Amino acid sequence: MRHDGGSLEYATRVDLACWVAPHTLKRSRRASRAGDRNRNEERIAVETIGKTSGAGESILRRLEVRRVVNATGHRTVLGGSRMAESAVRAAVAISAEFVDMFELNAAVCRRLAELTGNEAALVTNGAASGLMLAVVAAMADDTVALERLPRRRPARHTVLIHRTHRTPLDRSIELAGAEIVEFGNAVETTCAHLEAALDERTAAIVYVADGYYRRGSLDLPTVIAAARRHGTPVIVDAAGELPPPGNLTAFTRGHGADAAVFSGGKDLRGPQASGLLLGRAALIGTARQAAFPHTGIGRPMKVGKEELVGLLAAVEEYVTVDHEARARRSAEIIRGWAQRLADRPGVDCAIDADRAFHGLLIRLSSPVTATAAEVRDQLMAGDPAIAVDFVQGISGLRVTAHLLTDAEAELVINALERALDENGPAAVEGDT
Ligand SMILES: *Cc1c(COP(=O)(O)O)cnc(C)c1O
Repeated sequence: MRHDGGSLEYATRVDLACWVAPHTLKRSRRASRAGDRNRNEERIAVETIGKTSGAGESILRRLEVRRVVNATGHRTVLGGSRMAESAVRAAVAISAEFVDMFELNAAVCRRLAELTGNEAALVTNGAASGLMLAVVAAMADDTVALERLPRRRPARHTVLIHRTHRTPLDRSIELAGAEIVEFGNAVETTCAHLEAALDERTAAIVYVADGYYRRGSLDLPTVIAAARRHGTPVIVDAAGELPPPGNLTAFTRGHGADAAVFSGGKDLRGPQASGLLLGRAALIGTARQAAFPHTGIGRPMKVGKEELVGLLAAVEEYVTVDHEARARRSAEIIRGWAQRLADRPGVDCAIDADRAFHGLLIRLSSPVTATAAEVRDQLMAGDPAIAVDFVQGISGLRVTAHLLTDAEAELVINALERALDENGPAAVEGDT
């Protein structure tokens, strides 16, 4: 592989010298219609997974930092996503300009509200910052209360959250100055639990939409109905709930939540340090008062001009992408992997169709000598590192394909086969 240690800036190099790894997955010839679909999906692979850039690799090499092939999903700690090319272009272009940040912020947010079908929008420094700002707005509904945060808590300052929805990320709620009050328990949550927790101190209910937290929790419409009876706003943490792009409208306009936050650095493919707060005009308006360019409580979570126009370009592209074709492509790769691992003793594969993109669940048993956690660690220790998930509940691996180029998908299955060879008997005879 060519190693070019040139000094051109990253962004310029992405613009000028993008290259796409050649497709290495051989596909059988099919009827011409299927062929058309394959070609179409190869185009989709390039446009919506992103191009790998030789320039990015050379930065990593200079820093002696390993590249990660991401077979998990959008993980903030793995770099989030590959920015959409249109988002990179927009961010680079605006980086050369001075502009009135109030004017730019207002224009971008107005356009984002239109594009997503919401009353109002605010670009935030990640979904976590969007959550914090939404809680601030729910607590402090006048400028005096806003100015006093976080020194003095308003009368309404508690935020209700399912016990099953607690994560390390809910510190963003406390950062606003709010006090978290749990309702329900680890096994089940009833309407009575929620009703009992709602009182005159309640500022908002935060609902985590990720299906991972669904077990033992109330559904969103039930929570919103109870909140309405008490006049309490509902804020949905929908950081990773894309696709479908319809979710940009569904939680707020559809279900009636007052606000929803999305990560700009996940499937939207905007700048990694961007997020999207969507919802009712009054609440978003207060959040805006608290955020940069104003010097409110959100000022330390600056959103730069690059995040603003980068995220806008990413959303403009996202709503036009054929996400079903993306899902079909990734399902096809997963099926191919399952076939390649099918005849190995001690390797039990199942396709997980629970999420927007399929995953391959792999359980290991004798004669494979390594545990799934050990295989995960071995893959992550390589160069490039290959990131796969270890799923505690099944003591197995979960491997996905939707963020991989075709070349990377081949690399992942080869590395998995190699790891299994090294940790047990080779594949049975007849395997190619
Ligand atoms: C990723 C994620 C976040 C954080 O998003 P950032 O954009 O990194 O701030 C919050 N909540 C959930 C459920 C997430 O998946």
